[in-house]
Amino acid sequence: MGSTGSIGCNTVDLLVRNPGDYSVEVLTGNRNVTLLAQQAKDLGAQLAVIADESLYGALKDLLSGTGIEAAAGDQAVADAAARPSDVVVAAIVGTAGLRPTLQAARRGALVALANKETLVSAGDLMTQEVKNGGATLIPVDSEHSAIFQVFDFERADSVSKVTLTASGGPFLNKSLTEMAKMTPDEAVAHPNWDMGAKISVDSASMMNKGLELIEAFHLFPVAADAIDIVVHPQSVVHSMVSYVDGSVLAQLGTPDMRTPISLALAWPKRMATPAETLSLAEIGTLTFQHPDEVRFPALRLARDCLTEGGGAPTVLNAANEVAVAAFLDAKIGFLDIARVVETVLDRTSLVPLDCLDAVFALDQLARVRAGEAVVAVSG
Ligand code: NAD
Ligand code: MG
Repeated sequence: MGSTGSIGCNTVDLLVRNPGDYSVEVLTGNRNVTLLAQQAKDLGAQLAVIADESLYGALKDLLSGTGIEAAAGDQAVADAAARPSDVVVAAIVGTAGLRPTLQAARRGALVALANKETLVSAGDLMTQEVKNGGATLIPVDSEHSAIFQVFDFERADSVSKVTLTASGGPFLNKSLTEMAKMTPDEAVAHPNWDMGAKISVDSASMMNKGLELIEAFHLFPVAADAIDIVVHPQSVVHSMVSYVDGSVLAQLGTPDMRTPISLALAWPKRMATPAETLSLAEIGTLTFQHPDEVRFPALRLARDCLTEGGGAPTVLNAANEVAVAAFLDAKIGFLDIARVVETVLDRTSLVPLDCLDAVFALDQLARVRAGEAVVAVSG
């Protein structure tokens, strides 16, 4: 799901390198019909689905004579996740990935989860669907993949703390005055990772780490106040788990998303990847520092939402998606992203989220409020 994006292309790369080991049922994309059709041909997929319905004809033409089926629309994307397959790589960005990801969990697939917004927006529902469906949830987010690899699930009560590492993004050492002037291009230029635009902006604001805090809470049996964040600009230590005896276990590697993707694809085995071998001697120095919640208010907002629970993370996620899109469209400044999110959180009363419709209703309401807040700060 989302094969044309950054995680999607890295996944396709691993599949192409391992011909014969996997057979691909379906690939989905939003608008990049040319790439989607090419990937479907390269991997011999049964079906290719484009979310934008206006591109159905183009997809059909590109696939004519190949025997690969074409489909289009949001429903077709959600249906794609329901098709029989052992593994679903959930790599759609944002709440758009919610329905298909839940669908894959419901039918008991192994869900390789990159789409963190699903766990932030509907964490309780998602974990419930995983349980009910007998699905296996393997995190693809590098920090959560790291924790997953060193967390002793059999003896969770021996874990005292989980520490997420954060690169700090491209604005780690910028002042608030400098940050106020940053352009979308500057925000998207991440020092260590080449990612989609939305998550790159989230990394620059550190909202990404805030979302990951909530993601970690749903993935691992730890209390919210036992999840810590440390800034580590080299992105070599991908996260850590502390135990009651004083031991700290970490997973390290060069920053290459093909490592965590491969872990999920090959689970419970491991597969070779082209990720560069880690040489600590060549790197020489690894540094760590406390995050700055004054310059990066998104961290505080996310932690407050995690503490509040219920619909707060849903509102946080939806407002952030709208604010990031407005920033990428040059409608608001970089620092306005957190302002918009905070305004929406202050103005939205929360309802209990007992079903998917309730999540979508609150998500929708927060988007409308965020749209108003965007107009207010841009005007
Ligand atoms: P991206 O923007 O590069 O790709 C997103 C994919 O989703 C594309 O295939 C796009 O076509 C599809 N898509 C977008 N909107 C859609 C819609 N409305 N309906 C259906 N499909 C739609 O993003 P990415 O960087 O690959 O990130 C994907 C997810 O993985 C995000 O949730 C992100 O937070 C997470 N993630 C990414 C990285 C990374 O290194 N890129 C690392 C950790 C987690
Ligand atoms: Mg991450």
